[in-house]
Amino acid sequence: MSHRLTGKQLVIASHNEGKVVEIRDLLGPYGVDVISAAELNLPEPEETGETFAANAALKAKAACLASGQPSLSDDSGLVVPALDGAPGVRSARWAGPNRDFNAAMRRVEDSLKGKADRSARFVCVLALAWPEGNCDLYKGVVEGELVWPQRGKRGFGYDAVFLPDGYSETFGEMDPNIKHGISHRADAFRKLVAEHFPA
Ligand code: IMP
Repeated sequence: MSHRLTGKQLVIASHNEGKVVEIRDLLGPYGVDVISAAELNLPEPEETGETFAANAALKAKAACLASGQPSLSDDSGLVVPALDGAPGVRSARWAGPNRDFNAAMRRVEDSLKGKADRSARFVCVLALAWPEGNCDLYKGVVEGELVWPQRGKRGFGYDAVFLPDGYSETFGEMDPNIKHGISHRADAFRKLVAEHFPA
C-alpha cells in the first residue's frame, strides 16, 4: 500500500479543462495539490495507442518525463460489442474536428442497423506515472445499453444514448451527481483511491 501522493503535487496530464476540474474535485479531499499539463505548458502527445491503457500510459509518462513529477492521465470511451468494440479509443475522433457528437451518435446508430445486440459499456483507464519509471493503471467500467432517439441534454459525448444497467434514465437525463457515482471514471477512481489513500 502506498501513500506517496499525500502532500505531493500531481500533474494532470490533460489539456481538457473539464477533465482537470473533475479530477481536482475527486482528489481534493485527499490533500493532493493538482496542476494541469496546460498550466505547465507541457506538450500534448498524440494518442497513437490501440487500447485505453496504452493511450493513458503514454499521456501520463510524457507529462511525468517533461515535469519530473508524478502525473495522472485518463483515457476513456464507448465500447460497443456488436461493433467489435468501436468506437473505443476512437470515441472522440468519431465526432470529427468539430466535436459533433450528434453525428458520432448517429454513426453508432447507423452502424448498428440490423444488429440485435444493443449492449455497450463506457471504459476509463487512469494511468499514474512516477518519476522512478513505474506506471500504475486503474480500469473502470459501467455497463449498459444504447437507446434511440437520444434522451436528455445533460452530460457530454455519448451520454444521451447510454442507459446504464439498473437505471431508467440515460446518462444524458440523470442528475450528474448520480452519474458521477456510478460512472466508469468513478469506478477507476475508487480503485486508485483504495490503493493510495486506504481508509
Ligand atoms: P479522451 O479524451 O481521449 O479520453 O476521449 C474520451 C471520449 O470518449 C470523449 O470525447 C467522449 O466521446 C467519450 N466519453 C468518455 N467518457 C464519457 C462519458 O462519461 N460520457 C459520454 N461520453 C464519454
